[in-house]
Amino acid sequence: MVRVGILALQGDVAEHRRALADAGAEAVSVRRPADLDGVDGLVLPGGESTTVSMLLDSSGLAAPLTRAVRDGMPMFGTCAGMILLASSADDGRPDQRLLGAIDIRVRRNGYGRQAQSFECDLAVDEIDGGPVHAVFIRAPVVVSAGPGVDVLARLPGPGPGTGAAPVVCRQGHVLVSAFHPELTADRRVHQLFLSMIGARSGTGPGVAALVGG
Ligand code: GLN
Repeated sequence: MVRVGILALQGDVAEHRRALADAGAEAVSVRRPADLDGVDGLVLPGGESTTVSMLLDSSGLAAPLTRAVRDGMPMFGTCAGMILLASSADDGRPDQRLLGAIDIRVRRNGYGRQAQSFECDLAVDEIDGGPVHAVFIRAPVVVSAGPGVDVLARLPGPGPGTGAAPVVCRQGHVLVSAFHPELTADRRVHQLFLSMIGARSGTGPGVAALVGG
């Protein structure tokens, strides 16, 4: 069984644990560097990216995570997790730590504060079976994405001042979503991530087997 770590320093860890279990993976909490041993991929949950950034330092995880993603460990970040994986972030703390694993620039809380949180249905490339219902909570806006980044989904219409902003992006073994797929019962985005892990190890089921229908 694929073993997926969840960065469990802060944020909605339990929801990701449930989603990964439903999608057929074993989920383990990652709080210390040793917890990364034997993990095939890592989920960085939503929460508060500035807080997680500080906890990455105090837990000693900052350097091992940077190394792991550079060495090709598949990673999936949702909302605050997307910010942590990005190459640059506007409106963060000046000392905020980013893993720089995907070539996107994000703006924290770019859709507004809590009151402007919203939901919508999204068509996501490589996910069949109809639109994905997406829950955005104080989400980051992807301001720009580099040429190596695949944009798998954009907001359907002009969002709050953002046009058709990218909301699901992938670069190699790194997947990010601005919304929270772990908060709905639809497991297809987590399955897409598991298919990336499978493709890397060469043992897992392909995208078609996991994501179809
Ligand atoms: N606004 C949060 C941040 O900047 C992210 C919110 C979320 O993960 N739902 O880190």
